[in-house]
Amino acid sequence: MNTAHYKFWPARLPHELYYPRVPLYEFVETSARRYPDKEAIIYYGTRISYRELWDAVQSFAAVMIELGVGRGDRVALYLQNTPHFLISFFGVLRAGGVVVPVNPMLTEEELKFILADSGAVAVVTTADIGGRVFNIKKETSVREILVGDYSDYLPADPELPLPFPAQPRRELPAGAGGWLDLLGTSKGSRPSFDVDNGDLAMLPYTSGSTGIPKGCMHSHATIIANVISSAVWHNMVSSSTVLATLPFFHVTGLVHSALAPIYAGGTIVLLSRWEREAAIKAIEKYRCTVWTNITTMVIDLLNHPEITNRDLSSLLIVGGGGAPLPETVGKKLYELTGLKFVEGYGMTETISQTHFNPPDRPKMQCIGIPDFGVDARIIDIDTRKELSTGEEGELVINAPEVMLGYWNRPEETEEAFIEIEGKRFLRTGDICYLDEEGYFFVIDRSKRMINAAGFKVWPAEVEGILYTHPAVAEVCVVGVPDPVRVENVKAFVVLRKEYEGKLTGEEFIAWAKEKMAAYRYPRIIEFVAALPKSGTGKVQWRQLQQMERERVVRE
Ligand code: AMP
Repeated sequence: MNTAHYKFWPARLPHELYYPRVPLYEFVETSARRYPDKEAIIYYGTRISYRELWDAVQSFAAVMIELGVGRGDRVALYLQNTPHFLISFFGVLRAGGVVVPVNPMLTEEELKFILADSGAVAVVTTADIGGRVFNIKKETSVREILVGDYSDYLPADPELPLPFPAQPRRELPAGAGGWLDLLGTSKGSRPSFDVDNGDLAMLPYTSGSTGIPKGCMHSHATIIANVISSAVWHNMVSSSTVLATLPFFHVTGLVHSALAPIYAGGTIVLLSRWEREAAIKAIEKYRCTVWTNITTMVIDLLNHPEITNRDLSSLLIVGGGGAPLPETVGKKLYELTGLKFVEGYGMTETISQTHFNPPDRPKMQCIGIPDFGVDARIIDIDTRKELSTGEEGELVINAPEVMLGYWNRPEETEEAFIEIEGKRFLRTGDICYLDEEGYFFVIDRSKRMINAAGFKVWPAEVEGILYTHPAVAEVCVVGVPDPVRVENVKAFVVLRKEYEGKLTGEEFIAWAKEKMAAYRYPRIIEFVAALPKSGTGKVQWRQLQQMERERVVRE
């Protein structure tokens, strides 16, 4: 057994954490009892106390019950970061339902797949994007659409205005009633059953090598294990003020910037969209102490022309994950703020982080050490034997936050896990090594995934869409290294004979842009005569990937 990583766990933290065996929404209730009048959320100047948040969660749960949405029913949240997200998230759980968080950037086609796959019976959305849900409702099992609006929680702060206008609700079909009216008119129904901590709570979607998005089954218990680790790592207490700029539809934003502060009774300063001026103003005005982010946000913030004259002194922890932070950016952050960036690592399959750098001893370009209760090993992919310090292999994880499996996909679930010494380990598909002090480093991936500024793009999924273009004979999608965005999406395209010379790269990109979410479509196109193939006719995507990596190094 490789024990290096156990030796260096910070002494001040317990080796085993107590995980409350309660449903996740009890975190809101407990904080509401402890700190009823304290701000749970500050949204562009509007303050929502813990008492108000818990009341709204209970009203929302009652609305769910009155609409016949109950135990085990899936409810999709197709929302930006707004108070509606947190109220409906906990409200659905309180009613015994299962939350399906959906990226609000998804197109109708992409959204339709997730709604159909999860069998969602209701969708919570906002007026600006809600029209898409109404357009596809008939083709899904969705019965109810609940529409909020940004103006529901505003008299805005003139210093921190909302970044987009409220959308008139009359543009939506009749029946899309007002959010606040809805919460106000509920009869206060209560669920007639107890929600168990082992019940399914959430189905966040991720794709994979097959290109088909899969729902990761997380129970209240798997989420709670991760939330508590996050709260401990961030030294989260009731005086913590967390700047929430990462989207909640993705597990990292949800756990670090919402669930952990709610557990601790801290305050969430919520922004619906990333804007550096608003973020700096929010840090200065509310004295934010914790900020979890992705690399592009840190770079943007540090490039602010006036950054050295702004007051970021309240920040105690700045960290993130999902992609490596370039060393130069970490150094610049330190020079300007005195803060060391604390990088973490995790997957949708583990709800969020399984590794985190100790804030007092972080390393650069490093994912840190394992969370409490996380048995993280590096194995030889072929022999499945555990490797020694310094040796490169696949990272596998056994931990209380690991998902139960993929929703309705037993074969993919089977493939995602391996058994070692009688324990079930999740295969991460990330190639890592461990140093002498027990810190883990990601150096490559065995899975076919592109990391576009923290957004995960699955080439097989993109190729599936590109193949629907009549001009495409063959296509292969790879990641091109980028110093800021980690990788950019590139497609090598072989055109059908009749289209040769008749379609430009720009035209093809414009077509692709219409078909998929903004982070996913290829922004670089290269038309080629043929794709490299193996003896069995399989496209050699690794060869193209390697070519791109070498080309970028040469340039
Ligand atoms: P997701 O399921 O979207 O959270 O993506 C999980 C994947 O993101 C992991 O399997 C890694 O490939 C990648 N990832 C997460 N954190 C890091 C990190 N700190 N450095 C490098 N890659 C990361």
